[in-house]
Parts: sequence; structure tokens; C-alpha cells
Amino acid sequence: MKAFGFRLLALVLSVLAAASAAFAQDAVPAKQLFGKMVLPSLQRTAPLGFYAKGCLAGGVAIPVDGPAWQVIHLSRNRRWGTPEMIALIERLAREAKAKDGWNGLLVGDISQPRGGPMLTGHASHQIGLDADIWLTPMPAHNMGYQEREVVPEASVLKKDMLHVDARKWTKAHARLIVRAASYPEVERVFVHPGIKKKLCDTLEGSDRSVLNKIRPIYGHHYHFHIRMKCPPGSAGCEDQVDPPADSGCGKPLTQWLDKVRPRPVVKPTKPVKVAKPKHLMLSALPDACVAVLKAPAVANMAAAEFSNGIETNAEIPVTAYAAEQPAQASLIAASDDFSLFVPDLRNIPEPEMRPAAQ
Ligand SMILES: [Zn+2]
Repeated sequence: MKAFGFRLLALVLSVLAAASAAFAQDAVPAKQLFGKMVLPSLQRTAPLGFYAKGCLAGGVAIPVDGPAWQVIHLSRNRRWGTPEMIALIERLAREAKAKDGWNGLLVGDISQPRGGPMLTGHASHQIGLDADIWLTPMPAHNMGYQEREVVPEASVLKKDMLHVDARKWTKAHARLIVRAASYPEVERVFVHPGIKKKLCDTLEGSDRSVLNKIRPIYGHHYHFHIRMKCPPGSAGCEDQVDPPADSGCGKPLTQWLDKVRPRPVVKPTKPVKVAKPKHLMLSALPDACVAVLKAPAVANMAAAEFSNGIETNAEIPVTAYAAEQPAQASLIAASDDFSLFVPDLRNIPEPEMRPAAQ
């Protein structure tokens, strides 16, 4: 009986502890929990939940440089995805360079090391299956750290913000976007409505068959966004409903163009009430995301880089810091090795805010 009493007490205590842990987790927005994760979890890779409500177990990083790509905005530490996502970007990079006259990709945000909501920007990009690719080709030279931070957001639109600028838009832009959408594992590609219109007006033959996957959305006039389907066998991943089979070049596009048409700014006469932002809490994410947060980290960033058969630079040391222990600023400054870099999360550049992706 005594033993039972102890067991009961232990049970009550453990329930209380779990409840208070859950309470503590829900006292802060999930973006603060995931936004401070520097390294991926040492787990089998799994995209968990939905693109805009989930996390990523066992993320892998795209190498900062490849034969046909360079990753930008390294301070954001958002070059993490599933192996399928990274392999797809690398494939697109190589094929666009070889066949489309596109001199390699500038790779922007993918996901955080453990995915999840972010402190700045993006409603989606949470499960390692969304990636932003710049609409500016990679330069011929290898960019330094600082140059990668400040890559200009070069819009391909005219000043009217409705049509692509013929001086900036090339057939290679169209071929790159069509190639991305043509991969069967790609669910959707998001572009600005002005770009969608250009593609509707100019694509011919079999290229038109991917128009339905190329979806108009706000922003996305200096980069485009690739969203992959849940990879086969990823049980915890929640698929998005397939886009309609129709090209979307008719009424939906007209409506979108109207939505993004610049309007004169009207000064409000009354003070505008600003709605309190709703933060996604950990409890809204799949339960498995709690384990993703608690799991041990991989030893360092280089250990979690995706290689896909490409030889990595053996010269690069991989022992810069212990897991989750920020490296010293002096160590970072003294090295050109980006894999040593630990982002200063208080100082992430603010990307353009966009409404939630479709
Ligand atoms: Zn994006």
C-alpha cells in the first residue's frame, strides 16, 4: 500500500511537472523557441506538420557553395531542409546552369535548423520543404560573407509593380521557373502576379502544362519560392491540396493583378487600431516538435551538411564549437569558414513582410 502511495505521488508529481513544462512552453511564442536553435536535432530527418505550422527533425544544410550555387544571408542560418529539398535545389542549380543559360542559383531562405516559425519574415518555410531562389543569377566570383548579406533585392518588375520590365526579364528567368515547376516532386512555385502574367502570355507548348503549379502571390518579384510535396514515407508531413489543373491565367490572375495594383496612400483620419499579432504557440504544432526542440544537436554545422556525392572541402575544420555553444565572435571574425558561423539572432536583417503564403 505504501509503495502504491509513493507511485501515486510520483505519478501526480510527474503529471504536474509535465503540465508546468507545457505551460512554460506555451508562455512564449514558438518562434522564440525555434528561432534560437543554432543546430539541427540529431534525429532521423522528418518534416513534421504543415508548411506554415510545423517543424523539422534531423535537418540537413545545403553547402554554402556548390558548383552552381551560392547561399546568401548566412547570418539568418536558414539553409536547412530535408535531403530531398537540398538535392532538388542542387539539381535545379546544375540543370539551370547547363541548359537554361542561368549562371547558377543564389539560394535564399530554406528553413531554420529545426524548422518551426521564425522570428522574422515567412509564415511558411517551417518544415524544410520551402526554398527561396533569387531572380538574380549567381555572380561569376565567389562572394564574401558581407556581400552575401546585402545582395540587392533586384525586382524584375517595372515601376508600375504589375508588369515585368523587359530590360530585366529574360527568357532564362522563364526557363528557370518552368524547370523548377516541372519537377514532379514540386507542389507549387510562388511568383509575383506580374511574373505569372508574363509566363501566361509567353510560355508555349508543353511548358504551359506547369502553369497551374506556378501560383501568384504577394512579394516574390526579386525571388521565387519552391514548395515541395511531402516526400514519400514522411508520415508526419501534411500535404497541401494540389493546385487546380487550370492554368490560372484567366480570372484568378486578373483578380491577383488587381490586388497588387499600387493604390494612392490615403491618410487615415482616425487613429488606426493595430491588431495584436497572433503568435503560433508550441501547442499548435505537432506533438513531435517538442521532441525536436529537446533532442540533442548534431556536433556542428559541417557535420550536417548534405553532400549528395559532391566532394566537400576537406580543408575545412569541423570542430569549431561544441553543440549549441555559441562560438566566440573573434573566432568567427578570424575565419573565412562559414560553417563556423553562429548567427547573432538579435541582429537578423528584417526581410520583407508578406502575408501568409497560399
Ligand atoms: Zn519563400
